[in-house]
Amino acid sequence: MERANLEARARALIEAEAEVFRARRPRCAAAHDEEASGFFDGVPQHWMLDWPTPFPLVVDQASGVELVDLDGNRIVDVCLGDTGAMFGHGPAPVLEALKNAGMRGLTTMLPSSDAQVVGRLLVECFGLPRWQLGATASDANRFAIRVARAVTGRAKLLVFDGCYHGAVDDTLVDLVDGKTISRRNLLGQVRDLGELTVSIPFNDEAALADALAANDIACVLAEPVMTNCGMIPPAPGFHDTLRHLTREAGTLLLIDETHTISTGLGGYTKVHSLEPDLIVMGKPIGGGVPVSVWGMTQAISDKLHVIRREQSGHGHSGIGTTLSGSALQLACLRACLEHVMTEEAYAKMQANADRIEAGFKAAIAGAGLDWTVSRVGARLEVVFSALPVKNAAEARAAASDTIEAALHLSMLNLGYLLTPFHNMVLVSPALSEKQAGGLVNAFSTVLERLIERRA
Ligand code: PMP
Repeated sequence: MERANLEARARALIEAEAEVFRARRPRCAAAHDEEASGFFDGVPQHWMLDWPTPFPLVVDQASGVELVDLDGNRIVDVCLGDTGAMFGHGPAPVLEALKNAGMRGLTTMLPSSDAQVVGRLLVECFGLPRWQLGATASDANRFAIRVARAVTGRAKLLVFDGCYHGAVDDTLVDLVDGKTISRRNLLGQVRDLGELTVSIPFNDEAALADALAANDIACVLAEPVMTNCGMIPPAPGFHDTLRHLTREAGTLLLIDETHTISTGLGGYTKVHSLEPDLIVMGKPIGGGVPVSVWGMTQAISDKLHVIRREQSGHGHSGIGTTLSGSALQLACLRACLEHVMTEEAYAKMQANADRIEAGFKAAIAGAGLDWTVSRVGARLEVVFSALPVKNAAEARAAASDTIEAALHLSMLNLGYLLTPFHNMVLVSPALSEKQAGGLVNAFSTVLERLIERRA
């Protein structure tokens, strides 16, 4: 079916499905009131309005992969808080840790008795020898960038077009007509971010060599698979080239595993033997509690020791926040690393992701659509393109907000919550084989409706 016809059909579907959504949710509708709620836009975080629903789904309860909304509708969650709940809502060991942590003190600005165990677990699981904690992945990226600049004495940063690494100003840029400029929607930024950040297309080895040639880039910050602009896999050999060229240029390699931790135990880095200088993870690492971790090599750690010794006084390094490294975070990290983020959990996630990938591909072929399914472990993304996209320009060309919204709303009305701003399915260990099958059936039904084979 032609893209224009598909989009016209998607618009009609959105209207009909929005009506169904409204009819089932009088309480959720009534709860969305800026004046009465006291919240700007009527929600505690303005992104909550960016879903394709007429008003936000208000969640009364979330457990495992099931959400129950304020109107009592039950939904299977494959958004999982955009990865924050990748291991399911409220994994039992994390709930137990939360309970115990509450009794033992939540935050003291001192190491708790869990600290040494957690440090060892991070080294064992992710390979790098020295770690620190933050509260969010955005924080961890900011801290790691700061360290990269401090130890290299260089100001510039390189990112890939279409990236998202959190609320980190230096990375909120776009590549427009060959020029790096501040991202259009970024609020209150008064600096020209293109002065110190270079953005190049992913998988472009020539552009990478060019950008690194002046030996003035402190670090390259990259997701191993780009997950925030469709899902863009690395071309064969790209990571080898990236590592080789960064080493040659004296540039550090900072890998952001926040989403690609879906790959398997130890993230994409461990599974594919990458050799980053710095690594960042957040979101699901504490089972849903706000905590992030960032690790560094021994060489960076040694340099940082020297720099810190040369500084007079203490504090205000720009690294860390008051609640980072808290007893609460350490207790939840320990529970997650010891009992939740396990080989068994990943094996279950992969098995259901295999089923969903095969089922989605069959549904797409059955509907005669030229779409692909991109995947990194337990994370799958439907891309509206016949071939896997190679960079953000191709991903943007393939995307359609209208078709995406129609998919999301229709799937939600059939009881499945996809990730907004994506066509993303995240498979938690709490998802059953039956629920995976139900998801595939719902997807197939929605495609049939989209191509008008079914009403
Ligand atoms: N890194 C990546 C790759 C992300 O996708 C995100 C958020 N989507 C972040 C970092 C930032 O995470 P947070 O919003 O939890 O700080």
